[in-house]
Amino acid sequence: MKEDYYEILGVSKNATAAEIKKAYRKKAIEYHPDKNPGDAKAEELFKKAAEAYEVLSDPDKRARYDQYGHQAFEGAGFGGGGMNMEDIFSQFGDIFGSAFGGSFGGFGGFGGGGQRRVKGSNLRIRVKLTLDEIAHGVEKKLKVKRKKQAAGTTYKTCPTCNGMGQVTKIQNTILGRMQTSTTCGTCRGAGQIIDQKPANADSDGMVATDETVSIKIPPGVVDGMQLKVSGKGNEAPGNGISGDLLVVIEVEPHPHLQREGDNLHYDLYISFSEAALGTSKEIDTVSGKVRIKIDSGTQSGKILRLRNKGIPSINGYGTGDLLVHVNVWTPKALSKEQREFFEKMKNDEHFIPKPEKEDKSFFEKVKDMFS
Ligand SMILES: [Zn+2]
Repeated sequence: MKEDYYEILGVSKNATAAEIKKAYRKKAIEYHPDKNPGDAKAEELFKKAAEAYEVLSDPDKRARYDQYGHQAFEGAGFGGGGMNMEDIFSQFGDIFGSAFGGSFGGFGGFGGGGQRRVKGSNLRIRVKLTLDEIAHGVEKKLKVKRKKQAAGTTYKTCPTCNGMGQVTKIQNTILGRMQTSTTCGTCRGAGQIIDQKPANADSDGMVATDETVSIKIPPGVVDGMQLKVSGKGNEAPGNGISGDLLVVIEVEPHPHLQREGDNLHYDLYISFSEAALGTSKEIDTVSGKVRIKIDSGTQSGKILRLRNKGIPSINGYGTGDLLVHVNVWTPKALSKEQREFFEKMKNDEHFIPKPEKEDKSFFEKVKDMFS
């Protein structure tokens, strides 16, 4: 059982963004690896706080968490779980700013000295999915142009910072000698620069390379959702770590099915005669065509619910329904004979509307609920 994010940070469920930030900052400073060297428990608490903050500081993620709990972030590559130290520093580095002098080099694990590992940039790619693919989940092979370290590139210690990754300036001010450390501009904190590189490489010693990356997309994703494939973004020069590949979901419209959350809607048109006599109709679903029975005497506006024929919930809570909206098609043109027939039927008792409860349209039913 995972701990509650609010409890981890020690804030109430209706804490403001500022309160959450303040609470996280306090925990992060308390459990910071610089203060607790070699303390695995502190590191664990540090990571937990960062994970909680990652979710609660993002209004969308917080809303999802409030609604679904930890399950909101389970399955395929979402943020929220399994953060490593480098992620924490690259994402929330700014929050420590004033407490740790703006630099996080020097904590055990990466680099040593003052150097920090440079992270490659993220790549973002859009992927179009059909409703069928969304309903069942799909594995996609994506063609990506990644920057990779060119073969034959060699590095040497940065002469500006002597491999420290930071430069320290000492200034004499009215308050005395002030020492400030900033990230080295020559090596951007990596502590090393390119020594030799092949002719086809760019100034960082990188070449653009075509690569096929596969991603398993879980069922139930929505338009605009972003999935992450860790480490499949651009590589970083030197001993840096690769960026991530961010896959943005784009949904192709379906010709007959409209999605609303996990439910699907289908507009079915039947003729006047079919409504009166009853019939059966073939309709599209995300799992192929399905034949449904239309009873004799079916009214326009009736909604038939096909259970579990919608989209599976992204959070794993069941599957939506397919709602078939019956529209009875009234003839727009009539032959002479038809006109005479309908004239004759106009006051026939079978043709006079006498709606009973089960015949009422959706909107009438809603109206009834409030009257
Ligand atoms: Zn340098």
